[in-house]
Amino acid sequence: MKNEFTAKFIEQIPKTDLHVHLDGSLRISTLLELAAEQGVELPGKNEAELKEKVFKAQYKDLPEYLAGFQYTVAVMQNEAALERIAREFAEDNLAENVRYLEVRFAPQLHTSQGLSLAQILRAVSRGLQSAQDQHNSSAEVQNGEDLPFHFGIIVCALRWFFPQMSAYYRNLFEVMPYAPEKAVFSAASLELARASVALRDQENLPIVGFDLAGAEDGNPAVDHRDAFMYAHRNFLEKTVHAGEAYGPESIFQALTDCHADRLGHATFLFAADRVQSTAIENPQHYVDQLVETVARQRICLEVNLTSNLQTLPEMNSLAEHPLGKMIEANLSATICTDNRLVSHTTVTRELQLAAEYFDLNPAQVKNLVVAGFKGAFFRDGYLAKRAYVRQAIDHINRLMPN
Ligand SMILES: [Zn+2]
Repeated sequence: MKNEFTAKFIEQIPKTDLHVHLDGSLRISTLLELAAEQGVELPGKNEAELKEKVFKAQYKDLPEYLAGFQYTVAVMQNEAALERIAREFAEDNLAENVRYLEVRFAPQLHTSQGLSLAQILRAVSRGLQSAQDQHNSSAEVQNGEDLPFHFGIIVCALRWFFPQMSAYYRNLFEVMPYAPEKAVFSAASLELARASVALRDQENLPIVGFDLAGAEDGNPAVDHRDAFMYAHRNFLEKTVHAGEAYGPESIFQALTDCHADRLGHATFLFAADRVQSTAIENPQHYVDQLVETVARQRICLEVNLTSNLQTLPEMNSLAEHPLGKMIEANLSATICTDNRLVSHTTVTRELQLAAEYFDLNPAQVKNLVVAGFKGAFFRDGYLAKRAYVRQAIDHINRLMPN
């Protein structure tokens, strides 16, 4: 890194991660331990073998990137495992000074041993809560030297996923034998939206957002409109994986059909050459207007650099990533990890990559981090959020290099 001040600054400041999948972020040692305990077979018997065969430094395509999830999800089928993984995940984030965390996962992939959606969400919530209690009761937080930790859970509906990976989807395909495949996925999404709102309202579970993940190309967000309308009508915030494996029209759909408050990735936001519909006569004009809307509405972009580099074969180097354009257009962009294990990364590392490839100074790094605090779907209300953002900015300012 060119600027040593920037590296140290990035390590020390309070940070956020608004886009990170729990099932892609286990400690590899925990995966090995849980697999041994539960009799789950893994393609390697130690960390080195798993890194060589599954959690690679480089992937050749998206299917290879996704292959690891079948093993992580397999050990996340009971409450104790879910709680432990969530707690360790929060602790790993706390250790690198992440102070606001929104973790996402698809509860419907964790029902293979009969857990209900409620049991799954409660277990993850308990794990995060115990890490929070420990951090927030420390002397440093109590005397104001350190920022308190806050978190939320984002539930992921799935555009499409291998139905065989989940008992939930297998059952649903059995009870809807004549329905087209996409109707089954959209029914699952609606049920998830209903369960999420109910658990938030009745049990005060920390569910702060609703997401759509899974294969984007060929599975448009509009198929999940009912679920997103349900979330929308019940004041649940929305984020959508969009513009990761499809062009600007997917982002348009996320904003108009799903009422997205934030966008996951939005990597192809500026890609006029990826506009498919022939009804759009001037793709560049369409993209300009889309960017303008994202800017004016302060739609926060959840940027995942390493993950994009690993899953997009057309991207040869991070220098080609549109983060520079996002910053230039003054969009609200924040740096996230997507998957800490699968992408071998941390928030610190992703911010360092951003600083390095886009030659950012500490003030620009600060903007990316503050965008994360401001973009948070904070669960304790707007006034508390404003006070927390203020507190975070004060902490960052104290660490600003002169
Ligand atoms: Zn993601």
